[in-house]
Amino acid sequence: MALINENYLKLPGSYLFSEIARRVEAYKNANPEANIIRLGIGDVTKPLPEAVINGLHTAVDEMADEKTFKGYGPEQGYDFLLEKIVAFDFKTRGVDLATDEIFVSDGSKSDTANFQEIFSQNTKIAITDPVYPVYVDSNVMAGRSGTLGADGKWSDMVYIPCTAENAFVPQLPTEKVDLIYLCFPNNPTGTTITKTELKKWVDYAKANQAIILYDAAYEAYIQEEDVAHSIYEIDGAKEVAIEFRSFSKNAGFTGTRCSYVVVPKQVMGYTEAGDPIEINKLWNRRHCTKFNGVPYIIQKGAEAVYTEAGQAQIKALVEYYMTNAKMIREGVASTGIEVFGGVNAPYIWLKTPAGMDSWSFFDKLLTEVNIVGTPGVGFGPSGEGYFRLTAFGSKENTEEAIRRITTEFKL
Ligand code: PLP
Repeated sequence: MALINENYLKLPGSYLFSEIARRVEAYKNANPEANIIRLGIGDVTKPLPEAVINGLHTAVDEMADEKTFKGYGPEQGYDFLLEKIVAFDFKTRGVDLATDEIFVSDGSKSDTANFQEIFSQNTKIAITDPVYPVYVDSNVMAGRSGTLGADGKWSDMVYIPCTAENAFVPQLPTEKVDLIYLCFPNNPTGTTITKTELKKWVDYAKANQAIILYDAAYEAYIQEEDVAHSIYEIDGAKEVAIEFRSFSKNAGFTGTRCSYVVVPKQVMGYTEAGDPIEINKLWNRRHCTKFNGVPYIIQKGAEAVYTEAGQAQIKALVEYYMTNAKMIREGVASTGIEVFGGVNAPYIWLKTPAGMDSWSFFDKLLTEVNIVGTPGVGFGPSGEGYFRLTAFGSKENTEEAIRRITTEFKL
């Protein structure tokens, strides 16, 4: 009998986005003339930068010629891309990495979901709350969650609340944890922490032989000085942190797919007997066995991000979205609603007014001004009473949405 992994049955259905779609559909059916603006999606809307398009075209032509055609490539990524990553994303920030500490992949979603696989079933997981749901669900599938309580929390996971009460700064856990997921700039809250706060986590990990899984998918959006672009800017982090980076949000690769993971050789996991094992070696084994590498054509497109033109073009893209973020932040704040995030991130996190819950606020925004956002509770129990808007829409739609919120919205 083919027994299934019953941990999959524990997962509640993907309620959040299907419920949003259901409510929007019902409203549209009842109000076919409504011009609905979607500020809920976490997907970019601008096309790929010209430099990337040129890189892709050249690579396509190479594949058409026997002399330059490429078959299977190195699973970890081609040297031409690894060298650019090391030089541009790290060396410029005073971080020395070797190319064999970088693993190119098809997305930070798969990387952050897969990485838990090389750790023991008994690993104690800590997540900030609210959170990007992939970290939680992948550990549920792996059997590390326990049961889901009525409070929306998995019994075996440690939740670290990030709310207005603690200024969205996660506090160290009071119980011992082994794997810590941190994401800065944060999805969904759009907030960041200072280097001093991040250092506390690095010190905690060192003291507890724990590992930090650091998701820096929104690194390109950082504007403020005291926010680390890479966790390796923090002393000691190369001994305890894995970093996830993506071309999705800085260069518009959400449909093109390219990312990478940094696994420094000093990072150790331990056997039951207490012997240290290089995480880099385990991840390399896993990656080469289960992944065939990102297509040559796509890696050439990613390489073009590091050309002079590419760098200027991705900077312009980020500026475009950040102008939207500023407009949303200032516009919403002018109505008296409390807003967070949106300074170093394309996400704006609102405190729902008058104690309204996340879904009631969703309905109010949809029906009064025809704007769709994302209820905060969908990202974890501490998201209740909050709401996420994103800056990834067009400038025109964002302007219109803010005009409606500031002139027609009644609190
Ligand atoms: N990590 C976070 C925090 C995200 O919000 C997202 C996408 O929304 C991802 C990772 C996924 O990135 P990728 O497109 O590289 O899979």
